[in-house]
Amino acid sequence: MESVEVRLEHLTKEYNNSFVAVDNVTLTVGAGELLALLGPSGCGKTTCLRMIAGLVDPTSGEIVIGGKPITKTPVHRRNMGMLFQNYALFPHMTVAENVAFGLEMRKFSRSEREDKVRKALDLVKLGHLADRIPSQLSGGQQQRVALARALVIEPSMLLLDEPLGALDKSLREQMQLEIRHLQQRLGLTTIMVTHDQDEALTMADQIAVMRAGQMEQIASATEIYQRPATQFVAGFIGASNFFEAEEVSRDGRRAQLVTTSGIPLDVTNMRLVTKRVMVTIRPEAITVRPLGTEDPVAAPNTAVAVVEQVVYRGFMLHYYLRMDDGTEVIAYRQTQTEGWGPVSAVGDRVRISWDADSNHVVPLVAEAAAA
Ligand code: ATP
Repeated sequence: MESVEVRLEHLTKEYNNSFVAVDNVTLTVGAGELLALLGPSGCGKTTCLRMIAGLVDPTSGEIVIGGKPITKTPVHRRNMGMLFQNYALFPHMTVAENVAFGLEMRKFSRSEREDKVRKALDLVKLGHLADRIPSQLSGGQQQRVALARALVIEPSMLLLDEPLGALDKSLREQMQLEIRHLQQRLGLTTIMVTHDQDEALTMADQIAVMRAGQMEQIASATEIYQRPATQFVAGFIGASNFFEAEEVSRDGRRAQLVTTSGIPLDVTNMRLVTKRVMVTIRPEAITVRPLGTEDPVAAPNTAVAVVEQVVYRGFMLHYYLRMDDGTEVIAYRQTQTEGWGPVSAVGDRVRISWDADSNHVVPLVAEAAAA
């Protein structure tokens, strides 16, 4: 099977001539890559996927697969494998019959059908359960049957819409790895809708963060996590602390800022030209230490705070802190980590500090909207 590149060009969907659900989306999914469409409920992810599938007509824009525009091609000619949360197997048919269903309409001979079904079931490791009916399978096995049904037609690409939403956490994590492994092995270009950030980080080559019909950022998982383009992306993927700050001085990419509460910040990668910015700092970048008398009060990237809550999360402790001016700060600490000193308790006054490299600058929301 040859991997294909998928391009969306200025794709737009307006419902009832008034509500723009998908607004001028342009993106490319490289051949054999998995792109996750990620965003809050109602941001337009499913509409986007359904346009690619051919189930919703775009208002404008183009869908190009393997270099060919397919925007006007009917659903059954698009040759796409689809897997949805409600995968609805036929309850009275065996596993093999369920998987063969998509082939019946495509006029393959009986022996070709049997051969294709066996191969598809082997791909999802269910060859030994071909004669069972769905009620005799676990949730994960049923999901694999649905995946085999999507793969049996040898699709040119795969579309997944919250495919694991109905599974419990551990099965979900296992299936994420299985689907990803299979998708990579087959080199099958895939677009997946999810609202689960961990799922996107685990499975995707590229993550497209959507907000109110528009693409907020499209980048690799590491890029999205380490260099979010906006405050929305930083807050949506993982947790983040936010400090509004103003530039005091600057030398190339190195800058000194001061937060609205007076904390001096040293920034090593100042990419914006605006004087007023938002600084985001990931919770795992913040160190919490007991407050000592020798602490350098005026040093950059440090502040005093009070521990309001400590939450035990297995290998991590989550600290919810409040600075003297009322700003909330969250910090993560590995339960076993050396170097933080004694574990601080609720009510303790502590010093929080972080590296200059951990200060990541994004536009202030008001200025981002005006830009
Ligand atoms: P969720 O994660 O909740 O499934 P989503 O990001 O997939 O959300 P969509 O289902 O694409 O969002 O919906 C985007 C917006 O378009 C929503 O505000 C929704 O109410 C609206 N919408 C979807 N389908 C229609 C329709 N057929 N007619 C009118 N509005 C619609």
